[in-house]
Amino acid sequence: MTPQPLFFRAGLVLLSLLPLAGAGSAAAQSPAPDSLQGLRVALDVGHSLQNQGAGSARGVGEFHFNQATARVVRDILTSAGAHVVMINENGDLPDLLRRTDLALEKQCDVFLSIHHDSCHQKYKQKWLVDGAPQEYADQFSGFGVFCSQKHPQAQLSRQYATILGHAMLAAGFHPALHHHEAIEGENRPFIDEAAGVYEYSDLIVVKRTAMPAALLECGVIVNRDEELRVKTREYQEQLAKAVAQAFAECLSQGVLQPGSGARLSPTPRGGPVAPVSPPEDKKGLLRRLFERPQKP
Ligand SMILES: [Zn+2]
Repeated sequence: MTPQPLFFRAGLVLLSLLPLAGAGSAAAQSPAPDSLQGLRVALDVGHSLQNQGAGSARGVGEFHFNQATARVVRDILTSAGAHVVMINENGDLPDLLRRTDLALEKQCDVFLSIHHDSCHQKYKQKWLVDGAPQEYADQFSGFGVFCSQKHPQAQLSRQYATILGHAMLAAGFHPALHHHEAIEGENRPFIDEAAGVYEYSDLIVVKRTAMPAALLECGVIVNRDEELRVKTREYQEQLAKAVAQAFAECLSQGVLQPGSGARLSPTPRGGPVAPVSPPEDKKGLLRRLFERPQKP
């Protein structure tokens, strides 16, 4: 664990004033109409039509959950005065580096990638949905936030991700902590365990972005109940308000600054990059989603 900087403790006090509620029940405050004025947000819809990411307990591709939630997040952020650039809204931009480049071209001040979560294969059980075999794991639920220590502004990304995790808590959501388990494919270090914030340094969209970047897992869709919950308008709006509150908090603390995206230099390219080309099979998806750490 790393000690939290002083300025963040002040932010906690502010966030703790927000009403608490169970995830999905209306509680988070709507953002003030001008609270995000001037902020340019790159909102990335995770995965694509061709590679839809995780499968839900009922066999629906993650991309569809990401798209629906991101659109609600866009609307709430826009109502608070932000300028939102949707990236991969229709699922036709599988190239992750192209997404980060686009965020830079559009002079965005912050990058948020919207995803929905799964779990390790070993926990999944089988059931039939409309006669078709599907997999579920009901023991995992909640949100997660990921950022990269290899980001060019790693400290800002870390502060932004931590504020986002705490805003989710304040809105009544609970963190999913299973990515910390010491097994192959997980084993993610915590940045802030209580707020569900993890380090995932080689995740491309949070590493190769020029502006502060985080990835939000909005809920666990391999959980049969949570799959139904995350699809509700109430859940999506609650989450969107939490995101708006987090951005407002970042602005008040100087973690994010309107106009900063216009001053950024081209996306840093340090370190090795995994191939970004097809084939569009499972291995190809993994290659494109995760960069392998550089071997010494
Ligand atoms: Zn995903």
